[in-house]
Amino acid sequence: MSKKIADLRSDTLTKPSEEMRRFMSEAVVGDDVYGEDPTVNSLEERVAELFGHEAALFCPTGSLANQLAIRMLVAPGEELLTETNSHIVRAELGAGAAFSGITTRTWLSPRGELKADDALNIAKPDSGPYLVSTKAIAVENTHNFGGGTIQSIVEIKKLHQECQTLGISMHLDGARIWNAHIATGVALKEYGKYFDTLSVCLSKGLGAPIGSLMISTSDRISKARQWRKRYGGGMRQVGIMAAAGHYALENNLKLLKTDHVRAKVIAEAIASVAPSVIDPKTVETNIVGLDLSSMKITAFELAAQLKEHGILTGPLGSKYLRLVTHYDLDESDINLVKQVLPEVLKRALVA
Ligand SMILES: *Cc1c(COP(=O)(O)O)cnc(C)c1O
Repeated sequence: MSKKIADLRSDTLTKPSEEMRRFMSEAVVGDDVYGEDPTVNSLEERVAELFGHEAALFCPTGSLANQLAIRMLVAPGEELLTETNSHIVRAELGAGAAFSGITTRTWLSPRGELKADDALNIAKPDSGPYLVSTKAIAVENTHNFGGGTIQSIVEIKKLHQECQTLGISMHLDGARIWNAHIATGVALKEYGKYFDTLSVCLSKGLGAPIGSLMISTSDRISKARQWRKRYGGGMRQVGIMAAAGHYALENNLKLLKTDHVRAKVIAEAIASVAPSVIDPKTVETNIVGLDLSSMKITAFELAAQLKEHGILTGPLGSKYLRLVTHYDLDESDINLVKQVLPEVLKRALVA
């Protein structure tokens, strides 16, 4: 038997469970380009309703859901503002510029935490004939590269209020909004209220193999549906995949709580030997981002050492190592990390 691996590189690595696969195999399907896949249609209705919006659009990826959404809010040559380390500007290969002619400016914020004023300070709507006009602001919740940071509903509300006055739209990159909802108890509808468009992922901690949705008004969703087809994202009997989304919402949403507890436990074990590397208080959801800047060891070296012990982690920068908890990990994986990681760090400290 091959050695058991504890894979904490990402929550995208979750594999569909036996039960999810069975549920998928029984899905009633039709041609979704004709709008005739009942399982897709019911998932779109369900998710729109969850966030208190009119309509939703099933997409193969979160990047596509984000890109369709911002395309609906910002015309070519106009501007989208977002945080410097957000997925939309760092991890979608410049799609906003390449596909939609969208220009961006960013503000930098520790741990990606939203402060409404940071966005408002650089917002320039109606800039006239010489300067680019801000049309939309994107907020990422939870913030991935920030370390699973939850955005304050107070700051979101404040930003929304100001944006309404300024005529600026708001987009939520809610790939992990589920984690924010489970951790805070803030209703999904409450999050939905402040955004013109949203994207949500079913393929992260919720464990579906594929699937994201863009959420907005019926009008924007029907326009986005055309653009999805134009981009080559019109799918046929994709109810098999939408069924995984139904299953995930029904059964896996509540499991995120365990991921959060485990991330905290890992952070506490690390902080007990190397407090400069992580403050457990900042671990709010399922992501543990280690800051190795006070240590000699690089993230790549640390990841290599952990790999020898059967632990996979994500070195996302020379001094930043990411660990993500998810439902394919069991108690023995967490115990292994809790035991090995502090040992390895201790050795690195004296080296
Ligand atoms: C994963 C993720 C997405 C979407 O990624 P895809 O791989 O395109 O599905 C979008 N935003 C954030 C913050 C993410 O973590």
